[in-house]
Parts: sequence; structure tokens; C-alpha cells
Amino acid sequence: MSTSTLAVSAIQNGSVIDHIPAGSAVRLLKLLQLKTHPNTVTIGLNLPSKSMGKKDLLKIEGRFLTTNEIHEIAIFAPNATINLIHNFKLKDKFTATLPEAIKGLLVCPNKNCVSVNKDIVSNFEIQTLRQVVQLHCHYCEGVFQKEDIKEYTR
Ligand SMILES: [Zn+2]
Repeated sequence: MSTSTLAVSAIQNGSVIDHIPAGSAVRLLKLLQLKTHPNTVTIGLNLPSKSMGKKDLLKIEGRFLTTNEIHEIAIFAPNATINLIHNFKLKDKFTATLPEAIKGLLVCPNKNCVSVNKDIVSNFEIQTLRQVVQLHCHYCEGVFQKEDIKEYTR
């Protein structure tokens, strides 16, 4: 049995986020505030993957990810696979897709941006250019990549 099969089948009810780019699981832990999750969270880092070389994986017992959360996950883990598990069985499986825009999560890296200085809820339009996620700030019109973002509201 492969590592990922074992990992996916071990959850009773909840979500498994698979095919996370290696190194990105820690970001998702923060994003989904899993440190305070009341149930078991299993983290797999640098697991072998045929398609990716190495990957991370998260299993979250007792939590079903919302569409909004899945959109946010896609920013940090494009093409991550979301598995929803009910009673040890795979109920639904899909690929995380990017939203058209994201509000309030990312802090604009432009220190002169009005959203930073006036404490306005940030708003980024999202586009993908040659597989790279581009974040367009609604306020300063700056274009950033996710690596440019250093601060988050969670
Ligand atoms: Zn801005």
C-alpha cells in the first residue's frame, strides 16, 4: 500500500488535502487555524509523489472544508486535491481552484498602499499567467506574486 493510500484511508470523517507542494503545508496550517482544531490533524511532509517528486499532505478529522477555504488553499497549493471523507469512505474529490478575487486574507506588500495605511480590508484580483498566480491589488494596482506577500490576517 502506498503512503498516500494509507494516509487517506485512515480518516473517519473530515478532509484530506493531498498534492500540496512540498513546504506549503505549514502555511495551510496557519490559514485554516489548525493549531486550535479540536480533533486530530495529521501532517505529512515531503512524502514521495509520482507527479510532484515530493508533496505535503494534511488530514483533518472532523472538518469539512468550505468552498471559500478551498479557494484560499488554492493560492498556496495550486492544484491540491481535496478529499472529503465520510465514514472512512471517499465521498467527494476535487481539485482546489482559484477564486477570481480574495478579500481580507492577504496584506498588501506595498507599504504605501491605502489598504495598509488606513486598515481597509484588502482585495486582490487573481489571475494566472503561465502557471504563476498573479495578485492584483484593488487599491494600489500593484501586481504581486504570492511569495511577495509577507503578512496575512491569519
Ligand atoms: Zn495595494
